[in-house]
Amino acid sequence: MEDIAQTLHTADQGNGNFVNLGIGNPAPIPEVTTYWRSLTQEVIDENATCKMGSYGASRGEEALLLEIARFFRTHLDWDIGPENIVVGPGSQFLCFAAGVLFADCDHPIILPRLPDYTGYDALRAGRNALRGIEPQVEILDQRSFRYRLDESALAKIDRAGLFVASTPSNPVSDVLDQRALLLILDAAKRTNATVLLDHAYGLPFPAIAHGTTWMTLDPRVLHCFSLSKAGLPGARLGFAIGDPDRIDAMTAFVSNTVLHASRLSQDIATAALRDQSILALVRNNISPHYRRAAVHAQRAARDCLPASINWKTHAQDGGMFLWLWCDEPWSDDLELYRMGKERGVFFTPGRYFFLGSEQEHAWMKQCLRISLNQPAETLEHGLTILADCMRALRDSAPRPAWDRPLSRTADRGVHDA
Ligand code: PLP
Repeated sequence: MEDIAQTLHTADQGNGNFVNLGIGNPAPIPEVTTYWRSLTQEVIDENATCKMGSYGASRGEEALLLEIARFFRTHLDWDIGPENIVVGPGSQFLCFAAGVLFADCDHPIILPRLPDYTGYDALRAGRNALRGIEPQVEILDQRSFRYRLDESALAKIDRAGLFVASTPSNPVSDVLDQRALLLILDAAKRTNATVLLDHAYGLPFPAIAHGTTWMTLDPRVLHCFSLSKAGLPGARLGFAIGDPDRIDAMTAFVSNTVLHASRLSQDIATAALRDQSILALVRNNISPHYRRAAVHAQRAARDCLPASINWKTHAQDGGMFLWLWCDEPWSDDLELYRMGKERGVFFTPGRYFFLGSEQEHAWMKQCLRISLNQPAETLEHGLTILADCMRALRDSAPRPAWDRPLSRTADRGVHDA
Protein backbone atom coordinates (compact mmCIF):
# COMPACT_ATOMS: atom_id res chain seq x y z
CA MET A 1 0.00 0.00 0.00
CA GLU A 2 2.84 2.33 0.87
CA ASP A 3 4.54 1.59 -2.43
CA ILE A 4 1.30 2.35 -4.32
CA ALA A 5 0.81 5.62 -2.43
CA GLN A 6 4.42 6.69 -2.96
CA THR A 7 4.37 5.87 -6.69
CA LEU A 8 1.05 7.64 -7.23
CA HIS A 9 2.36 10.66 -5.36
CA THR A 10 5.38 10.82 -7.69
CA ALA A 11 3.10 10.25 -10.71
CA ASP A 12 0.94 13.19 -9.62
CA GLN A 13 4.03 15.33 -9.92
CA GLY A 14 4.19 14.60 -13.62
CA ASN A 15 6.02 11.29 -13.90
CA GLY A 16 3.31 9.16 -15.48
CA ASN A 17 -0.30 8.00 -15.45
CA PHE A 18 -1.20 5.02 -13.30
CA VAL A 19 -4.34 2.95 -13.17
CA ASN A 20 -4.97 2.00 -9.59
CA LEU A 21 -6.87 -1.28 -9.29
CA GLY A 22 -5.39 -1.82 -5.85
CA ILE A 23 -7.35 0.82 -4.04
CA GLY A 24 -10.12 0.35 -1.45
CA ASN A 25 -11.90 3.68 -2.01
CA PRO A 26 -15.60 3.46 -2.81
CA ALA A 27 -16.49 4.04 -6.47
CA PRO A 28 -17.19 7.70 -7.28
CA ILE A 29 -20.91 7.19 -8.12
CA PRO A 30 -22.25 10.62 -9.19
CA GLU A 31 -25.62 10.29 -7.36
CA VAL A 32 -23.81 9.28 -4.18
CA THR A 33 -21.42 12.21 -4.37
CA THR A 34 -24.31 14.62 -4.96
CA TYR A 35 -26.32 13.15 -2.07
CA TRP A 36 -23.52 13.54 0.47
CA ARG A 37 -22.56 16.97 -0.82
CA SER A 38 -26.06 18.38 -0.38
CA LEU A 39 -26.56 16.72 3.00
CA THR A 40 -23.23 18.15 4.18
CA GLN A 41 -24.26 21.58 2.97
CA GLU A 42 -27.58 21.34 4.84
CA VAL A 43 -25.84 20.32 8.04
CA ILE A 44 -23.26 23.10 7.75
CA ASP A 45 -26.01 25.64 7.09
CA GLU A 46 -27.85 24.51 10.21
CA ASN A 47 -25.40 24.65 13.07
CA ALA A 48 -21.99 23.19 12.29
CA THR A 49 -19.82 26.12 13.34
CA CYS A 50 -21.46 26.29 16.71
CA LYS A 51 -21.13 22.52 17.26
CA MET A 52 -17.52 22.44 16.10
CA GLY A 53 -16.75 25.10 18.71
CA SER A 54 -17.13 22.66 21.58
CA TYR A 55 -16.27 19.08 22.50
CA GLY A 56 -18.87 16.33 22.23
CA ALA A 57 -19.66 13.08 24.05
CA SER A 58 -17.28 10.14 23.65
CA ARG A 59 -20.04 7.59 23.06
CA GLY A 60 -21.40 9.79 20.26
CA GLU A 61 -23.92 12.59 19.75
CA GLU A 62 -27.19 11.83 21.53
CA ALA A 63 -29.20 12.49 18.35
CA LEU A 64 -27.08 10.05 16.35
CA LEU A 65 -27.28 7.32 19.00
CA LEU A 66 -31.07 7.62 19.03
CA GLU A 67 -31.27 7.50 15.23
CA ILE A 68 -29.01 4.44 15.04
CA ALA A 69 -31.09 2.65 17.67
CA ARG A 70 -34.33 3.54 15.85
CA PHE A 71 -32.90 2.47 12.50
CA PHE A 72 -31.79 -0.97 13.73
CA ARG A 73 -35.00 -1.49 15.69
CA THR A 74 -37.03 -0.73 12.57
CA HIS A 75 -34.99 -2.63 10.01
CA LEU A 76 -33.48 -5.54 11.93
CA ASP A 77 -35.81 -5.77 14.88
CA TRP A 78 -32.89 -5.29 17.25
CA ASP A 79 -33.99 -4.28 20.71
CA ILE A 80 -31.25 -1.71 21.35
CA GLY A 81 -30.79 1.76 22.83
CA PRO A 82 -27.91 4.25 23.12
CA GLU A 83 -26.27 2.05 25.80
CA ASN A 84 -25.63 -0.56 23.06
CA ILE A 85 -23.86 1.85 20.72
CA VAL A 86 -20.52 3.60 20.47
CA VAL A 87 -19.52 5.92 17.63
CA GLY A 88 -15.89 6.27 16.55
CA PRO A 89 -13.72 7.83 13.85
CA GLY A 90 -14.14 4.94 11.37
CA SER A 91 -14.58 1.22 11.85
CA GLN A 92 -10.82 0.62 11.54
CA PHE A 93 -10.43 2.48 14.80
CA LEU A 94 -13.24 0.54 16.48
CA CYS A 95 -11.73 -2.79 15.37
CA PHE A 96 -8.41 -1.65 16.80
CA ALA A 97 -10.07 -0.68 20.08
CA ALA A 98 -11.68 -4.12 20.32
CA GLY A 99 -8.30 -5.77 19.70
CA VAL A 100 -6.65 -3.77 22.48
CA LEU A 101 -9.51 -4.35 24.91
CA PHE A 102 -10.49 -7.96 24.37
CA ALA A 103 -7.27 -9.77 23.36
CA ASP A 104 -3.78 -10.15 24.77
CA CYS A 105 -0.76 -12.39 24.29
CA ASP A 106 -2.46 -15.35 26.01
CA HIS A 107 -5.84 -14.74 24.40
CA PRO A 108 -5.05 -14.12 20.77
CA ILE A 109 -7.04 -12.46 18.02
CA ILE A 110 -8.33 -15.15 15.72
CA LEU A 111 -9.19 -14.52 12.08
CA PRO A 112 -11.36 -17.59 11.53
CA ARG A 113 -11.48 -17.50 7.76
CA LEU A 114 -8.50 -16.25 5.82
CA PRO A 115 -7.88 -14.31 3.69
CA ASP A 116 -9.18 -11.24 5.48
CA TYR A 117 -8.68 -7.47 5.70
CA THR A 118 -5.01 -6.42 5.99
CA GLY A 119 -6.04 -3.66 8.39
CA TYR A 120 -6.52 -6.35 11.07
CA ASP A 121 -2.74 -6.66 11.23
CA ALA A 122 -2.79 -3.48 13.32
CA LEU A 123 -4.74 -5.40 15.98
CA ARG A 124 -1.46 -7.06 16.94
CA ALA A 125 -0.56 -3.79 18.65
CA GLY A 126 1.14 -4.07 22.02
CA ARG A 127 1.62 -7.67 23.01
CA ASN A 128 -1.38 -9.04 21.16
CA ALA A 129 -1.03 -12.34 19.36
CA LEU A 130 -2.88 -12.86 16.08
CA ARG A 131 -3.61 -16.17 14.40
CA GLY A 132 -5.38 -16.65 11.08
CA ILE A 133 -7.01 -19.94 10.10
CA GLU A 134 -6.18 -21.05 6.57
CA PRO A 135 -9.27 -21.79 4.50
CA GLN A 136 -10.05 -24.93 2.57
CA VAL A 137 -10.03 -24.41 -1.16
CA GLU A 138 -12.96 -25.73 -3.15
CA ILE A 139 -12.62 -25.72 -6.93
CA LEU A 140 -16.03 -25.00 -8.44
CA ASP A 141 -15.15 -25.20 -12.13
CA GLN A 142 -12.33 -24.36 -14.50
CA ARG A 143 -12.64 -20.64 -13.81
CA SER A 144 -14.02 -20.35 -10.30
CA PHE A 145 -13.33 -21.47 -6.76
CA ARG A 146 -14.38 -20.71 -3.21
CA TYR A 147 -12.58 -20.60 0.13
CA ARG A 148 -14.39 -22.49 2.88
CA LEU A 149 -14.09 -22.08 6.61
CA ASP A 150 -11.90 -24.88 7.98
CA GLU A 151 -14.34 -26.12 10.59
CA SER A 152 -12.04 -28.69 12.17
CA ALA A 153 -9.22 -26.13 12.57
CA LEU A 154 -11.70 -23.73 14.19
CA ALA A 155 -12.88 -26.49 16.55
CA LYS A 156 -9.27 -26.94 17.76
CA ILE A 157 -8.88 -23.32 18.87
CA ASP A 158 -8.62 -23.45 22.66
CA ARG A 159 -7.41 -19.95 23.50
CA ALA A 160 -8.85 -16.74 22.08
CA GLY A 161 -9.69 -13.22 23.13
CA LEU A 162 -11.35 -11.90 19.98
CA PHE A 163 -12.60 -13.47 16.76
CA VAL A 164 -12.70 -10.99 13.89
CA ALA A 165 -14.15 -11.38 10.41
CA SER A 166 -15.29 -9.06 7.66
CA THR A 167 -18.53 -10.09 5.98
CA PRO A 168 -18.82 -9.48 3.06
CA SER A 169 -15.09 -9.87 3.14
CA ASN A 170 -12.31 -7.70 1.97
CA PRO A 171 -10.62 -9.15 -0.12
CA VAL A 172 -12.67 -11.99 -1.65
CA SER A 173 -16.17 -10.52 -1.34
CA ASP A 174 -17.73 -13.64 0.22
CA VAL A 175 -20.38 -13.59 2.94
CA LEU A 176 -20.16 -15.76 6.06
CA ASP A 177 -23.24 -17.96 6.11
CA GLN A 178 -25.27 -18.79 9.19
CA ARG A 179 -23.51 -22.11 9.77
CA ALA A 180 -20.07 -20.45 9.71
CA LEU A 181 -21.24 -17.71 12.07
CA LEU A 182 -22.71 -20.22 14.52
CA LEU A 183 -19.44 -22.17 14.53
CA ILE A 184 -17.49 -18.99 15.21
CA LEU A 185 -19.90 -18.14 18.01
CA ASP A 186 -19.50 -21.65 19.48
CA ALA A 187 -15.73 -21.25 19.41
CA ALA A 188 -16.07 -17.89 21.15
CA LYS A 189 -18.29 -19.38 23.87
CA ARG A 190 -15.86 -22.26 24.40
CA THR A 191 -12.93 -19.86 24.79
CA ASN A 192 -14.89 -17.09 26.54
CA ALA A 193 -13.99 -14.68 23.75
CA THR A 194 -15.69 -11.79 21.96
CA VAL A 195 -16.67 -11.86 18.28
CA LEU A 196 -16.32 -8.80 16.08
CA LEU A 197 -18.24 -8.87 12.81
CA ASP A 198 -17.13 -6.14 10.48
CA HIS A 199 -19.94 -5.07 8.13
CA ALA A 200 -17.94 -2.37 6.31
CA TYR A 201 -19.34 -3.73 2.99
CA GLY A 202 -22.53 -5.24 4.35
CA LEU A 203 -25.99 -4.45 5.61
CA PRO A 204 -27.58 -2.01 6.07
CA PHE A 205 -25.15 0.25 4.22
CA PRO A 206 -23.47 0.02 1.74
CA ALA A 207 -25.16 -3.41 1.29
CA ILE A 208 -22.85 -4.32 -1.55
CA ALA A 209 -23.34 -8.10 -1.25
CA HIS A 210 -26.16 -10.08 -2.90
CA GLY A 211 -26.06 -12.61 -0.05
CA THR A 212 -27.14 -11.44 3.37
CA THR A 213 -25.17 -12.03 6.52
CA TRP A 214 -27.14 -13.52 9.35
CA MET A 215 -27.37 -10.57 11.75
CA THR A 216 -27.68 -11.99 15.22
CA LEU A 217 -27.69 -9.90 18.36
CA ASP A 218 -25.73 -11.96 20.86
CA PRO A 219 -24.06 -10.64 24.02
CA ARG A 220 -20.67 -11.85 22.74
CA VAL A 221 -20.94 -10.23 19.34
CA LEU A 222 -19.85 -6.71 18.49
CA HIS A 223 -21.16 -5.53 15.13
CA CYS A 224 -19.11 -2.86 13.43
CA PHE A 225 -20.53 -0.51 10.78
CA SER A 226 -19.08 2.24 8.66
CA LEU A 227 -20.18 5.06 6.38
CA SER A 228 -16.95 4.79 4.37
CA LYS A 229 -17.99 2.39 1.63
CA ALA A 230 -21.34 4.18 1.32
CA GLY A 231 -19.35 7.14 0.03
CA LEU A 232 -17.87 8.97 3.03
CA PRO A 233 -14.40 7.50 3.78
CA GLY A 234 -12.97 10.94 4.53
CA ALA A 235 -15.67 11.70 7.10
CA ARG A 236 -14.19 8.94 9.33
CA LEU A 237 -17.37 7.67 10.84
CA GLY A 238 -18.17 4.22 12.14
CA PHE A 239 -20.08 2.72 15.04
CA ALA A 240 -20.24 -0.52 16.96
CA ILE A 241 -23.30 -2.20 18.45
CA GLY A 242 -23.09 -4.75 21.23
CA ASP A 243 -23.81 -5.51 24.85
CA PRO A 244 -23.51 -2.52 27.22
CA ASP A 245 -20.44 -3.78 29.12
CA ARG A 246 -18.33 -4.22 26.04
CA ILE A 247 -19.66 -0.97 24.55
CA ASP A 248 -18.80 0.89 27.77
CA ALA A 249 -15.23 -0.38 27.52
CA MET A 250 -15.06 0.77 23.90
CA THR A 251 -16.48 4.18 24.87
CA ALA A 252 -13.79 4.59 27.52
CA PHE A 253 -11.18 3.70 24.89
CA VAL A 254 -12.55 6.35 22.50
CA SER A 255 -12.54 8.84 25.33
CA ASN A 256 -8.93 8.12 26.30
CA THR A 257 -7.57 8.19 22.76
CA VAL A 258 -9.45 10.50 20.38
CA LEU A 259 -12.15 11.94 22.71
CA HIS A 260 -14.85 11.49 20.07
CA ALA A 261 -15.58 11.26 16.35
CA SER A 262 -16.08 14.42 14.28
CA ARG A 263 -19.28 16.18 15.34
CA LEU A 264 -19.86 17.40 11.79
CA SER A 265 -19.65 13.85 10.41
CA GLN A 266 -21.97 12.64 13.15
CA ASP A 267 -24.55 15.28 12.21
CA ILE A 268 -24.36 14.24 8.55
CA ALA A 269 -24.94 10.61 9.55
CA THR A 270 -27.85 11.67 11.79
CA ALA A 271 -29.52 13.49 8.90
CA ALA A 272 -29.07 10.46 6.58
CA LEU A 273 -30.66 8.13 9.14
CA ARG A 274 -33.40 10.47 10.34
CA ASP A 275 -35.29 10.56 7.04
CA GLN A 276 -33.89 7.13 6.03
CA SER A 277 -32.74 8.65 2.73
CA ILE A 278 -29.57 6.57 3.06
CA LEU A 279 -31.68 3.47 2.38
CA ALA A 280 -32.90 4.83 -0.96
CA LEU A 281 -29.32 5.74 -1.83
CA VAL A 282 -28.19 2.19 -1.12
CA ARG A 283 -31.13 0.55 -2.88
CA ASN A 284 -31.14 2.77 -5.99
CA ASN A 285 -27.50 3.61 -6.48
CA ILE A 286 -24.89 1.80 -4.42
CA SER A 287 -26.08 -1.84 -4.52
CA PRO A 288 -26.97 -1.80 -8.26
CA HIS A 289 -23.66 -0.16 -9.10
CA TYR A 290 -21.57 -2.90 -7.47
CA ARG A 291 -23.84 -5.67 -8.76
CA ARG A 292 -23.23 -4.43 -12.31
CA ALA A 293 -19.52 -4.01 -11.59
CA ALA A 294 -19.21 -7.59 -10.31
CA VAL A 295 -20.97 -9.06 -13.35
CA HIS A 296 -18.88 -6.95 -15.67
CA ALA A 297 -15.65 -7.94 -13.89
CA GLN A 298 -16.35 -11.64 -14.41
CA ARG A 299 -17.00 -11.07 -18.10
CA ALA A 300 -13.98 -8.81 -18.48
CA ALA A 301 -11.76 -11.45 -16.86
CA ARG A 302 -12.93 -14.05 -19.38
CA ASP A 303 -12.49 -11.63 -22.28
CA CYS A 304 -9.12 -10.19 -21.31
CA LEU A 305 -7.15 -12.88 -19.47
CA PRO A 306 -5.33 -15.63 -21.40
CA ALA A 307 -7.40 -18.76 -22.01
CA SER A 308 -4.26 -20.89 -21.92
CA ILE A 309 -3.42 -19.88 -18.34
CA ASN A 310 -5.09 -21.52 -15.39
CA TRP A 311 -6.63 -18.50 -13.64
CA LYS A 312 -9.76 -18.57 -11.51
CA THR A 313 -11.86 -16.00 -9.69
CA HIS A 314 -13.39 -16.44 -6.27
CA ALA A 315 -17.17 -16.98 -6.41
CA GLN A 316 -18.68 -13.58 -5.67
CA ASP A 317 -21.40 -12.93 -3.14
CA GLY A 318 -20.99 -9.26 -3.98
CA GLY A 319 -18.35 -6.89 -2.75
CA MET A 320 -15.93 -4.29 -3.92
CA PHE A 321 -13.27 -6.64 -5.21
CA LEU A 322 -12.46 -9.34 -7.70
CA TRP A 323 -10.13 -11.97 -6.23
CA LEU A 324 -8.07 -13.62 -8.90
CA TRP A 325 -5.99 -16.75 -8.45
CA CYS A 326 -3.38 -17.50 -11.08
CA ASP A 327 -3.09 -21.20 -10.34
CA GLU A 328 0.20 -21.97 -12.08
CA PRO A 329 3.52 -23.15 -10.61
CA TRP A 330 5.34 -20.09 -12.00
CA SER A 331 2.79 -17.62 -10.64
CA ASP A 332 3.85 -15.10 -7.99
CA ASP A 333 1.70 -12.20 -6.77
CA LEU A 334 4.66 -9.91 -5.99
CA GLU A 335 6.15 -10.48 -9.45
CA LEU A 336 2.79 -9.73 -11.08
CA TYR A 337 2.48 -6.63 -8.89
CA ARG A 338 5.96 -5.47 -9.94
CA MET A 339 5.32 -6.14 -13.64
CA GLY A 340 1.91 -4.41 -13.48
CA LYS A 341 3.48 -1.39 -11.84
CA GLU A 342 6.14 -1.23 -14.59
CA ARG A 343 3.31 -1.13 -17.12
CA GLY A 344 1.32 1.52 -15.20
CA VAL A 345 -1.28 -0.62 -13.39
CA PHE A 346 -1.58 -1.48 -9.70
CA PHE A 347 -3.14 -4.64 -8.30
CA THR A 348 -2.89 -5.64 -4.66
CA PRO A 349 -0.74 -8.75 -4.02
CA GLY A 350 -2.84 -11.38 -2.27
CA ARG A 351 -0.30 -12.77 0.22
CA TYR A 352 -0.79 -9.87 2.66
CA PHE A 353 -4.37 -10.98 3.30
CA PHE A 354 -3.27 -14.33 4.74
CA LEU A 355 -2.52 -12.71 8.09
CA GLY A 356 -1.24 -14.81 10.96
CA SER A 357 -1.29 -18.00 8.92
CA GLU A 358 0.70 -20.90 10.40
CA GLN A 359 1.03 -22.78 7.14
CA GLU A 360 2.42 -21.64 3.82
CA HIS A 361 0.66 -22.83 0.71
CA ALA A 362 1.75 -21.90 -2.81
CA TRP A 363 -1.77 -20.58 -3.55
CA MET A 364 -1.42 -17.92 -0.89
CA LYS A 365 1.19 -16.22 -3.09
CA GLN A 366 -0.65 -16.58 -6.38
CA CYS A 367 -3.61 -14.23 -5.90
CA LEU A 368 -4.36 -10.60 -6.68
CA ARG A 369 -7.09 -8.35 -5.33
CA ILE A 370 -8.58 -6.19 -8.04
CA SER A 371 -10.75 -3.24 -7.10
CA LEU A 372 -14.15 -2.77 -8.77
CA ASN A 373 -14.28 0.95 -8.12
CA GLN A 374 -13.04 2.00 -11.55
CA PRO A 375 -15.03 2.54 -14.77
CA ALA A 376 -15.57 -0.60 -16.91
CA GLU A 377 -13.08 0.41 -19.58
CA THR A 378 -10.37 1.13 -16.99
CA LEU A 379 -10.84 -2.33 -15.50
CA GLU A 380 -10.62 -3.90 -18.96
CA HIS A 381 -7.45 -1.94 -19.67
CA GLY A 382 -5.96 -3.13 -16.37
CA LEU A 383 -6.88 -6.76 -17.04
CA THR A 384 -5.37 -6.58 -20.53
CA ILE A 385 -2.12 -5.37 -18.99
CA LEU A 386 -2.37 -8.12 -16.39
CA ALA A 387 -2.76 -10.66 -19.20
CA ASP A 388 0.53 -9.37 -20.70
CA CYS A 389 2.20 -9.70 -17.30
CA MET A 390 0.94 -13.27 -16.89
CA ARG A 391 2.20 -14.30 -20.32
CA ALA A 392 5.56 -12.62 -19.75
CA LEU A 393 5.96 -14.29 -16.35
CA ARG A 394 4.99 -17.68 -17.73
CA ASP A 395 7.32 -17.36 -20.72
CA SER A 396 10.25 -16.37 -18.53
CA ALA A 397 9.77 -19.34 -16.19
CA PRO A 398 11.80 -22.49 -16.81
CA ARG A 399 9.37 -25.17 -18.06
CA PRO A 400 9.64 -28.65 -19.48
CA ALA A 401 9.30 -28.92 -23.28
CA TRP A 402 5.91 -30.69 -23.12
CA ASP A 403 4.43 -27.77 -21.24
CA ARG A 404 5.16 -25.05 -23.81
CA PRO A 405 2.27 -23.51 -25.80
CA LEU A 406 2.08 -24.79 -29.38
CA SER A 407 1.14 -21.43 -30.85
CA ARG A 408 0.68 -17.88 -29.67
CA THR A 409 -2.97 -17.86 -30.86
CA ALA A 410 -3.85 -20.34 -28.11
CA ASP A 411 -3.09 -17.55 -25.76
CA ARG A 412 -5.34 -14.65 -26.55
CA GLY A 413 -8.54 -15.33 -24.69
CA VAL A 414 -11.55 -17.61 -24.90
CA HIS A 415 -12.88 -16.01 -28.07
CA ASP A 416 -9.86 -16.69 -30.22
CA ALA A 417 -8.42 -19.75 -28.45
N1 PLP B 1 -13.06 -3.01 7.58
C1 PLP B 1 -12.84 -3.44 6.34
C2 PLP B 1 -13.15 -4.87 6.01
C3 PLP B 1 -12.30 -2.60 5.36
O1 PLP B 1 -12.05 -3.05 4.14
C4 PLP B 1 -12.00 -1.26 5.72
C5 PLP B 1 -11.42 -0.32 4.75
O2 PLP B 1 -11.05 -0.63 3.66
C6 PLP B 1 -12.27 -0.87 7.02
C7 PLP B 1 -12.80 -1.75 7.94
C8 PLP B 1 -11.97 0.51 7.49
O3 PLP B 1 -13.13 1.27 7.34
P1 PLP B 1 -13.28 2.71 7.97
O4 PLP B 1 -13.06 3.69 6.87
O5 PLP B 1 -14.69 2.74 8.50
O6 PLP B 1 -12.28 2.87 9.06
